[in-house]
Amino acid sequence: MKELLDDEFERAYKHGMKSAISEKDMKKAMPEDSMQISFTQEDREAINQLKRSGTLEDAYNRMTKEMLETFNETLQDAILEGVTVEEATRSLAQKVGLRVAEMSRIARTEMINATNEGRISAYEQRAKIRGKENRYTLVVAGGARTCDAHRELASRIPASGLPLQELKDLQMQIGASHGMTLSGNVLLHPNQRTVIMRIP
Ligand SMILES: [Zn+2]
Repeated sequence: MKELLDDEFERAYKHGMKSAISEKDMKKAMPEDSMQISFTQEDREAINQLKRSGTLEDAYNRMTKEMLETFNETLQDAILEGVTVEEATRSLAQKVGLRVAEMSRIARTEMINATNEGRISAYEQRAKIRGKENRYTLVVAGGARTCDAHRELASRIPASGLPLQELKDLQMQIGASHGMTLSGNVLLHPNQRTVIMRIP
């Protein structure tokens, strides 16, 4: 399980790098022969950092334990309350299903996070070559499920974007005012779909 997750982090990160350099204005900004991005020591460290954060692994371990407990409890209830095997099975499937859904939500968020870190890496490598600081914006997935903090965030990033550190500070500030503790460059919470974009 651990190895499987580690591979996914790396894949998501590299996908992020690729998606960033394949953007039209990124291509335009750079001569063709420098389009090859390099996978640096910093990238390796960033991926290790993502792995070490352990959110996904913790969730997996917790859930495995909880599922076992749920299984035992359901069996006990079935014996004590004399419910049918069908009823017990249905109840168990429902409880396990909820855990799996929660796990998927966490996994999705972690992978979006890794993709975003990869995107930033490619953007920043380009900025170094160009000798000009990037300005960023966040594309926050819209819809009824977008929380108040991300709604506010989306409305407070200027159209011309912000330097990476200022964008991070703004997120910290808004996150705190909504009672959220967020981490990473694109500060995500479970089920948050946000992509970082460079303003050309
Ligand atoms: Zn949110």
